[in-house]
Amino acid sequence: MYHKVGPMPPGTKLRAHYVSLRRFSGQLRLLRLLKFQWCRVADLWSPEAPDRAIALTFDDGYRNFLTHAWPILQAGGMGGTVFPVTRLLGCENSWDTANGERPEPLLTIEELKELDRAGAEIGSHTQTHADLVAVDPGKARLEIEQSRRDLQAILTQPIDVFCYPYGRKSAESERLVTEAGYRFATSTIGGWNTESTNPLELRRTNVRRDTSPSVLLFKLLRDRKRG
Ligand SMILES: [Zn+2]
Repeated sequence: MYHKVGPMPPGTKLRAHYVSLRRFSGQLRLLRLLKFQWCRVADLWSPEAPDRAIALTFDDGYRNFLTHAWPILQAGGMGGTVFPVTRLLGCENSWDTANGERPEPLLTIEELKELDRAGAEIGSHTQTHADLVAVDPGKARLEIEQSRRDLQAILTQPIDVFCYPYGRKSAESERLVTEAGYRFATSTIGGWNTESTNPLELRRTNVRRDTSPSVLLFKLLRDRKRG
């Protein structure tokens, strides 16, 4: 699980969310060394999935995914899954700036279309980055359903994957996600995904600014045991 890749603006509060280009390249080098092969989240359980399949997810849909992460991923024969906030395309991370965070530009509709054409996997992260446990059920349903429709209206790929903002979810959110037509949803719980993992609560390894390749190796091995 990544958030931002590239230079960190001065005064940033959530410093851990910014992974430098050098570090990002080092992490991908490690994954290649370990013979991991990139896979879309929606294809992790397909018969064509590679033996050592790994999905790389990027929350919030920052523009730096396209400008910084994507070229490095492509050069290394990999891809990525991006989770934009559909009503904030072309805007900033207002859910964070409201709490004093530095603004970071989000992908525009055109940029998201470009990623769609280029083969990135795109999933939903709601319309406004809503905390699905804090809002009323009607609003939660709208955020989950309408964001999928927003993406379907502009993209060519099926929208199969949902990402819970803040990793916050309930049994009710899982139900709404299924009813909206998603097949998978990602959590912020660390671990590897197996046949027995709940597809609406997929495990992820959190990659941070301070995750050096050796720390990443440690985290992957630890998460493998957690399953
Ligand atoms: Zn988010």
